[in-house]
Order: sequence, then structure tokens, then C-alpha cells
Amino acid sequence: SAESGNDPVVVIGLGRFGSSLAVELMRRGTEVLAIDHRPKVVQSLAGELTHVVAADATDMEALRQLGVAEFGRAVVAIGSDLEASILATSLLVELEVADIWAKAVSRQHGRILERIGAKHIVLPEHDMGERVAHLVSGRMLDYM
Ligand code: ATP
Repeated sequence: SAESGNDPVVVIGLGRFGSSLAVELMRRGTEVLAIDHRPKVVQSLAGELTHVVAADATDMEALRQLGVAEFGRAVVAIGSDLEASILATSLLVELEVADIWAKAVSRQHGRILERIGAKHIVLPEHDMGERVAHLVSGRMLDYM
């Protein structure tokens, strides 16, 4: 909503999806805490993101130390590692982060994430396919 549009956001997992998301949020003036467990990924994004740290998002103690509980919004952008995606999401729920967005690689994965408390599920390939269908059929105005 418009009221929460500028609240800080935690972004977990900085693959293609998570890194684009984090950079775009920052570009729009939103404060971002970006987390990935691969030090190389963190290093390569250090120039673009103000707060980017190497940490395991399935480690509750690490999340607490980073102050994740203070955030009202988070995006779990881990896809292919289902265990990590599910565990990280459940830890955010436990930390009472109110608005949790999670990327899923399948509808089943999305259903699990919803059941443990994610508020919004993103299925990048599905969602983008729908959008491109609108663009191809000329209904550009929906997405401008
Ligand atoms: P994309 O399509 O966005 O590139 P993907 O689904 O192919 O993503 P994944 O390997 O599932 O990529 O995860 C995306 C990112 O999440 C990776 O950079 C990976 O290092 C990170 N990641 C995976 N597990 C954890 C974890 N436990 N803690 C922190 N980051 C993690």
C-alpha cells in the first residue's frame, strides 16, 4: 500500500530475481537490507547496494543479529533450494515480520509458503508469461 511503500525491506537471496529486486527498490528510495550466504555474490553487489551482508538466512541467530525482526517487510527470493526457502520463510514468520513476499518455483511450493505464513507468492515464470500475453495482445495500458 502507499503507506508502506517506503518502509525498509529485507531481501533474502540475491540471485537474478533477488538482486534485480533489491537494486530496483533502492533506486526507488527504499532502504534495503540484502542477504545472501555466498560471499562472492555479496562482494559483487557491494557497489550497488548500501546494506548487503553475507549470512545464512536459515540461521535464526544470524537473522536476529542483523535486526531482521525490526523490519515490517521481507522478500524471500530463494528459489531452487526448497529447504532453505521454506526454513527462511518460517523464521521470518517467527520473527513476526508482517509483510512477507516469497518467490516459488511451483504452485505446490507456493502453497507451502502460504501455509507457513507468507502473505504474497510470486511465481516469476508464470506471472511473467501472463504479463507478456497482455503485452503481445496489445493491452499495454494494464502494465504502464
Ligand atoms: P534466480 O532465478 O533469482 O537466479 P534461483 O532460484 O536460481 O534464483 P537459488 O539458488 O535458489 O537461485 O537462490 C537465489 C539466491 O539465494 C542465491 O544467490 C543463493 O546463494 C541464495 N541463498 C540460497 N540459500 C540461502 C540461504 N540459506 N541463506 C542466504 N542466501 C541463500
